[in-house]
Amino acid sequence: MRRLASVILIFLCGTVPGSGQAPGTKTTLLRCGALFDGRGDAVRKNVFIVINGEKITDISNAAPTGAEVIDLSRETCLPGLMDTHTHILLQGDITAADYDQQLLKQSPEYRTILATVNARRALEYGFTSIRDLETEGAGYADADVKKAINNSVIPGPRMQVATRALDVTGAYPLQGYAPNVSLPHGVQIVDGADNARQAVREQISHGADWIKVYSDRSYRVREDGVLDDIPTFTLDELRAIVDEAHRERHKVASHAMALYGVHNSVEAGVDSIEHGNYIAEEDLKTMAARGVFYVPTIFVGEYVAQGRAAEGAPVWVKMIQIHEDTFKRAMKAQVKIAFGTDAGGFDWKVNPAKEFSSMVKFGMTPAQAIRSATLTAAELLGVTDSLGTVEAGKLADIVAVPGDPLSDVSLMEKVDFVMKGGAVVKRP
Ligand SMILES: [Zn+2]
Repeated sequence: MRRLASVILIFLCGTVPGSGQAPGTKTTLLRCGALFDGRGDAVRKNVFIVINGEKITDISNAAPTGAEVIDLSRETCLPGLMDTHTHILLQGDITAADYDQQLLKQSPEYRTILATVNARRALEYGFTSIRDLETEGAGYADADVKKAINNSVIPGPRMQVATRALDVTGAYPLQGYAPNVSLPHGVQIVDGADNARQAVREQISHGADWIKVYSDRSYRVREDGVLDDIPTFTLDELRAIVDEAHRERHKVASHAMALYGVHNSVEAGVDSIEHGNYIAEEDLKTMAARGVFYVPTIFVGEYVAQGRAAEGAPVWVKMIQIHEDTFKRAMKAQVKIAFGTDAGGFDWKVNPAKEFSSMVKFGMTPAQAIRSATLTAAELLGVTDSLGTVEAGKLADIVAVPGDPLSDVSLMEKVDFVMKGGAVVKRP
């Protein structure tokens, strides 16, 4: 009886609704002019990718017969892209006013409707997976967008979500209003280790895959060129957050742009450093040794710098040069660098794939930049067994660009074929 029960369970798990068409029913063939499978730098020419149901079953140089062929013979096929730092609930916040307006004048319901459009945009840009790093005041709406995508209600990428994020009193917008005005905040505010643990438990119970913390604020460049900050949490609070999240088998992403925020985050044992405009040499060494990921989000810095400088914060312009130096030092220190854009921090109508060119400008080869958005990103998301490369046995998340992105990485902004789990989302 027991054995029968487990057999039934396996059977049910294999046919859950929303997992795509039943396996074995449909074979699709992608005829790719070239394939960058993501396992190394090499490109294979004239390849056929065989897809059965939602999985890749074979990759060969000869076409099997009897299957629907999609002609991508002028294209380079690549693994589905992953953006590991997005905000689908945000519509760009170059200035503080942009941000305040969204929280004060748009209901979370309206923002969720906009988010469903952003989710579709992400997928059509070629991002078949995203890690959405907090809703900026829209509660648990990201968990609901993820649910609607998984239930095939709306199109969108595979999502890992962080829900509300955590910061301390006085550190995160909305700020600067009269003390007697009650305001929405872009995060869940917590002070003290026990309250922080409670918030982690609460967010996980409402669907958070990741815990996001803001570890620093208020940036300035010191005379020696180091980017200085005010750490938000005490080390004790940060350690409690990380310990609680890890105890519940969840990971922690830390917004840390400068010296102390990064240092405290690394000391506390977070899993990824977000932005990291300045990272001290010893922290880079620790990150490399412990496998802490660096998600640099370069493009957004360039995008918001002029607007924020015009608003009276010229530090954002200087931060770009500091960022470039940090990025180069991180590569040298062999820190794992995962692709992330902060899309939503800039308008979703701007293609987040511009980050590829930013990474190459800062010193990566095109192949390295693409792998940061495929295999390395899959490592960060913990999904390398099913995603991240184009290989038999993996899920058929595949994109294509017209031409050779290894000679012109800006072609990554021209994804014209998208397949997610064997289903065609977009084709040339
Ligand atoms: Zn962000």
